[in-house]
Amino acid sequence: MTTTPPFKRIALIGLGLIGSSLARGIQQLGLAGELVATDNSAAVRLRAAEIKLADRIADDNASAVKDADLVIACVPVGVAGDVAKSIAAHLAPGAIVSDVGSVKASVLHAMAEYLPDNVHFIPAHPVAGTENSGPDSGFAELFINRWCILTPPDGADSAAVEKLTGFWAALGANVEIMQAEHHDLVLAVTSHLPHLIAYTIVGTADELEDVTRSEVLKFSAGGFRDFTRIAASDPTMWRDVFLANKDAVLEMLGTFQEDLSKLTRAIRRDDGDALFEHFTRTRAIRRGIVSIGQDEAAPDFGRKHQALTKKSES
Ligand code: NAP
Repeated sequence: MTTTPPFKRIALIGLGLIGSSLARGIQQLGLAGELVATDNSAAVRLRAAEIKLADRIADDNASAVKDADLVIACVPVGVAGDVAKSIAAHLAPGAIVSDVGSVKASVLHAMAEYLPDNVHFIPAHPVAGTENSGPDSGFAELFINRWCILTPPDGADSAAVEKLTGFWAALGANVEIMQAEHHDLVLAVTSHLPHLIAYTIVGTADELEDVTRSEVLKFSAGGFRDFTRIAASDPTMWRDVFLANKDAVLEMLGTFQEDLSKLTRAIRRDDGDALFEHFTRTRAIRRGIVSIGQDEAAPDFGRKHQALTKKSES
């Protein structure tokens, strides 16, 4: 028995890690009657056609969104407004327009400025990723058991929110609804600050003159290796994230610097009790993350991906 796909036509704009993961998931699960995709880069469009990331690869954003009932911008947050401007006049009335940006308040304002009133704009952020980019880096299972946060603006159509929730749930994600500003504060501490710290540490180690580069690489399993993975994340994406979430990141950075000063003081004063108490607390946080299924206790190498299955097959 064939079932009708939930969307007649889905348009994806941007075919990097997130866009190409969505494309693979949508195709695997049959979530669209037709999947149309495009990208700024001609080389990416060519590659996407070669590996059949969509039923049709459009030459530009405007032609990609024609007659689509779901449009998702999968581009760096700094260009979300430009993308909205390029598609605004070509959107089908009643279409759901969304994005996947890691920052929400600034994207919401940048896109809302151009989008017409007759579409449903529901921003989203799948809290899932890797340090890789480009159309070959995506995989359909990326969103399984990860959170996808929707930040619908006040007065958003509840049926559209529900339909987008169903879309992400089909891809394996757990969906949560939040205010955009609250999202940005939460993600500043759980994602943006850790990336900033990783970028700093890897840069610091690289600049040390009395430790050679080969020693840094050789002994990287001592903690440094995990930071290098995070610090390998896409420079464009992360430049845009820090600029777009400036206030929340600066607020969290202030708190972090105070906490770092406390630990610095404990080390200087040989205060082992303070260090032990702090490390015991952080170990409990790690165990909490594992116990709610957001990570595995096993080391991160050699893990198996869960398979993406249609609801009826599971
Ligand atoms: P990516 O791999 O760098 O892909 C982004 C793609 O968008 C690139 O191919 C880029 O082409 C294209 N693009 C840029 N401007 C465009 C425009 N105006 N019109 C059409 N296409 C355009 O990035 P990603 O990792 O998929 O990230 C995409 C979004 O997802 C970002 O907003 C990011 O914050 C969010 N996100 C990322 C992660 C993650 O871990 N990577 C996780 C969750 C959410 P060019 O190369 O020519 O610029």
